Amino acid sequence: MTVIAIDQNLCTGCQECVKICPNLAIEGVPHQAQKINEDKCVMCGQCVQKCKSYVSAAEHGLAAYAEARAARGLPEWITEPLFAAHNVTHIEEVKKALADPGVFTMVQSAPAVRAAIAEDFGAPLGDLAAGRLAAALRKLGFDKVFDTNFAADVTIMEEGSELIHRVTNKGVLPMFTSCCPAWVRYLELNYPSLRQHLSTCKSPQQMEGALFKTYGAKILNVPIEKIFSVSVMPCTAKQFECSRPEMVDSGARDVDVVLTTRELVWLIKDAGLDFINLPDEKFDLPMGDYSGAAEIFGVTGGVMEAALRTGYELITGKAIPAVDITAVRGIDGFRTADIAVGDLTIKVGVVTGLKNVKPVMDALAEGKLDLHFVEVMTCPVGCVTGGGQPKLIDESDFEQAYKQRISATYNHDLELPVRKSHENPSVKKLYADYLKKPLGDLSHKLLHTTYCGDKKVAHH
Ligand code: SF4
Ligand code: SF4
Repeated sequence: MTVIAIDQNLCTGCQECVKICPNLAIEGVPHQAQKINEDKCVMCGQCVQKCKSYVSAAEHGLAAYAEARAARGLPEWITEPLFAAHNVTHIEEVKKALADPGVFTMVQSAPAVRAAIAEDFGAPLGDLAAGRLAAALRKLGFDKVFDTNFAADVTIMEEGSELIHRVTNKGVLPMFTSCCPAWVRYLELNYPSLRQHLSTCKSPQQMEGALFKTYGAKILNVPIEKIFSVSVMPCTAKQFECSRPEMVDSGARDVDVVLTTRELVWLIKDAGLDFINLPDEKFDLPMGDYSGAAEIFGVTGGVMEAALRTGYELITGKAIPAVDITAVRGIDGFRTADIAVGDLTIKVGVVTGLKNVKPVMDALAEGKLDLHFVEVMTCPVGCVTGGGQPKLIDESDFEQAYKQRISATYNHDLELPVRKSHENPSVKKLYADYLKKPLGDLSHKLLHTTYCGDKKVAHH
């Protein structure tokens, strides 16, 4: 399947995207249109963020604009400028499902979406819009407005338990996080023999999707075949992830369609909603309930910190002395820390940006990587800077946007009443009523997977 493409009529061959591509997937000669080698592309969308060549009706005329729009199969109500490097959209499928009274639509949105979406409506950088996001999704007509953050808390329960199991049973270490689909694909393409180091946990998006069509179907009494599962993600690789052959454990496709943050903005504008002034609403319970630990999944080091907050308490049985684990925060490409957990010292690493993962993987292949747990995120400072986020045109805005989106995320963590995944009351209820225990039979069936590790993407 094609997720990222370059419009051959719009590309000037400036090769700015070539410089940023983490897996040398963009091919061509300077000053001529570039092409993406789909067998190498990890779908991170960083080329989409970088590309400055566009067509707009105002500058290039309606005919030129309409031609580019039609070539991409975009609906006529889209009027935004269209850039040469772009992600393929599924927006019409979502509109169709929303308009069909026979379809029960469930939506989730990732933590990073709320840290940036308001920018596309003119808000200052770092205006965190959780309540307005929930309100907008409800006004668009989704039957249930749930939240990926709920599954981020579930991920911590499963991944934390997996780490403890690996450490205490001489399992394969270090364990690498598996929530970033571009990273998973990068590892499959470049280091297939090391894939047993990946956590078997699905990403929060895929866990939430699998729970929508099982737990959600059960508690809401909706037949699985009526449920249409939509994700709003800061990430272009998530559409690839939800289409992977492994992601059908609910008995159907766990997530039917992914929209990027930018595509949700299109839908909100099309509906004429005044996003900035929408009164705050809450996400629906139970699968919209979340802790501060889940919220920080959107920034580099966040998954690690969330795992340590819970791991510490599960291992020692005591409250963690400081909830903010600043040793794993920061924006360096690779950083390590030794974290004391009772009598154990857990050695952790955090990688941000795939260009920084190569030396780490080379050290691992040579048996020189002395760590227990490594978090890897593909995008510059984590998902808040994902390929599907609002596009920054002015280079001078990048640094400020990254900083503001990160601080908005940590501030939201601070203001939430629950800041540890294992204390989320709806997660406790999920385990009590349905899953029974982390790493139990049902968890293994729905929430874990074995990545097939093929060298090539299935083109379908
Ligand atoms: S999506 Fe990422 S990996 Fe694919 S071509 Fe663009 S920058 Fe390269
Ligand atoms: S896709 Fe955009 S950034 Fe890449 S070469 Fe073409 S115009 Fe330049």
